[in-house]
Amino acid sequence: MTLDRALEISYSNSIELKTEKTTIDKALGRILSEDIISHVNDPIFDNSAMDGWAVRIEDCKIGSRLKIIGTSQAGKNSPQTVSKGEACRIMTGAPIPKGANSILIIEKSEEDNGFVTILDNPKPNYIRKKGENITIGQTILQSGTVLNPPEISLAATSGNWEVNVVKKPIVSIISTGDELTHPSSELNEGEIFESNSFGLTALIDKIGGKAENFGHISDSLEDLRNTLNLASEKSDLIITSGGVSMGEWDLVRKIMEEEGEIKFWKIKLRPGGPPLFGTWNNTPIFGLPGNPVSSHVVFITLVAPWINRIMGTDEHKGARLGNKVKIRLKNPVKGAPGKICMRRIFIQLEDDELVGYVKTHQGSGNINSLVTHNALTLLPPNTDGSIGQVIDAIWLN
Ligand code: AMP
Ligand code: MG
Repeated sequence: MTLDRALEISYSNSIELKTEKTTIDKALGRILSEDIISHVNDPIFDNSAMDGWAVRIEDCKIGSRLKIIGTSQAGKNSPQTVSKGEACRIMTGAPIPKGANSILIIEKSEEDNGFVTILDNPKPNYIRKKGENITIGQTILQSGTVLNPPEISLAATSGNWEVNVVKKPIVSIISTGDELTHPSSELNEGEIFESNSFGLTALIDKIGGKAENFGHISDSLEDLRNTLNLASEKSDLIITSGGVSMGEWDLVRKIMEEEGEIKFWKIKLRPGGPPLFGTWNNTPIFGLPGNPVSSHVVFITLVAPWINRIMGTDEHKGARLGNKVKIRLKNPVKGAPGKICMRRIFIQLEDDELVGYVKTHQGSGNINSLVTHNALTLLPPNTDGSIGQVIDAIWLN
């Protein structure tokens, strides 16, 4: 199964999320569930882009003197009209007085005894015109847009305080494995600290979902069945970690074959070969491999696009865990037979070009390799990357 086909199948098993109201001070990372329009023009009124003098351009020659008639301040009413031979002191953001059509900046003027002398020609473009950025009633943000800091500022600028957003999908996370123990516990012989449920919870948070971490359970069909039942009742999606390979103890695959419904199992991806997707009691479920790097990579390539899809967003609307870029390889990178190969690589700018280095040992069990690198290669199946070659990669955020 190719990654593209797997995505297609998962997309055809979609779910609908409810929407809710929130205020923009709490909306960081939320996804709009409807278009929003501007309640005002931006700017709301003609105003000055600079500190200086509001003048009539016809009156301005280098060396001429204009009579100062008053001050236009930000936040105050527009003052009197500027007539022939007059200038009005003006602050950045203050309304342009009637009659004025240009701003002489303070640096190009000299003030004495109630008059201002012009030292350089004023420029009409220091006036920010009403509605030049946005007009009232204009759609400023579309449904599906991720509310990042600029979008939140724009919502406020346009007079939008409450916005309708997609409800966060509730995602249950279940790690499986007899060898796992909580990082706060003492290790017994043969045990390792459980990490995937924490990494996956963080990934869910990062893309705007609400994770319900069930922690780790033992490799037992009964535990698994009970936990899956509980999880399917309270969540929109279930993610499991571990137990999806061919082994006798790979009980997630086994129980899904016997009691759930599998839509696909295994994709042509390295690392992360044997993920599965299906439903448990009608709740969609992704079974991720237990190796920590694999679980992250499969989340990024397979689960995140599905979650974005149900939330009505995609990378064009701001949703992303990484950006696709082209890099020049500084080391040879081995591809994988028949599979897309996503090796860890470190990207940096060098001589105006993005280059990629492999810094440490790669291995799907080595989570440190995702920390010491900042990107994943996108080598097509059966393709090695050689030094100097330009390849695609995902630069992770
Ligand atoms: P599995 O997919 O269950 O065969 O596990 C593959 C490898 O990943 C084994 O070395 C496991 O010990 C390890 N592993 C599985 N689940 C986790 C987890 N939640 N946290 C850390 N390592 C894990
Ligand atoms: Mg296991």
